[in-house]
Amino acid sequence: MEQNGHSIALNLSAIRSQLPDGVRLVAVSKFHPIPSLQAAYDAGQRLFGENRPQEFSAKVPQMPADTEWHFIGHLQTNKLKLVLPYASLVQSVDSLHLLEAIDRWGRDNQRVIDVLLELHLGAEQTKHGLTEEEILQIVLGETISAWTSVRFKGLMGMATNTDNEARIREDFSRISHLFHHIRTQLEAIPSPEGRERAACWTELSIGMSGDWRIALEYGATLIRVGTAIFGEREY
Ligand SMILES: *Cc1c(COP(=O)(O)O)cnc(C)c1O
Repeated sequence: MEQNGHSIALNLSAIRSQLPDGVRLVAVSKFHPIPSLQAAYDAGQRLFGENRPQEFSAKVPQMPADTEWHFIGHLQTNKLKLVLPYASLVQSVDSLHLLEAIDRWGRDNQRVIDVLLELHLGAEQTKHGLTEEEILQIVLGETISAWTSVRFKGLMGMATNTDNEARIREDFSRISHLFHHIRTQLEAIPSPEGRERAACWTELSIGMSGDWRIALEYGATLIRVGTAIFGEREY
């Protein structure tokens, strides 16, 4: 059921009080109505995440101008113009094809788009995501200089949807290792460009309503929480 404004504010402050410095909360507002987003905004929340282009672009103009938006869902290349003008970060780059299209859009629009690469974790709930090999090739491969209009900020992943905490930890551990491995490799590149890329590589987006506390142990810098703030979604 949709939470009222008071419980949304309470949920937010309960979560925030447990977040260490340097970890940002993305309020995942998909399927929730504007009054619920506004209640979160009134409680101080500025960063929201949406996963469907149409819904995203419809909500943006209905919220105050200083609302910050991350896109966190599967993005088809014919929907870029609904998302890229408004998202400060696209967290869910899940294919090379999409990455190329975003880079091209950025070039055509004189923009550099901040992105996270989505690592395919957890077998069952999504087939979206890049493999570790693909991610390494993109950010450390020889063609890295070809990406002129995307900025690689880090990794995003969704752990297996399970009550088995060991399995969730395995997933978080895998993505966390990859994140730090890439950071180390970028830092070792002996050029100003390498230093610049290493300095940008700061974000690890893991953890949702059921597992964000565990994600903190694995170095999450962004957690994406919907249900625990706004209540259950009605599809
Ligand atoms: C819906 C969604 C979330 C939030 O899920 P909750 O379990 O409601 O917190 C986080 N990340 C992504 C990518 C999502 O699609």
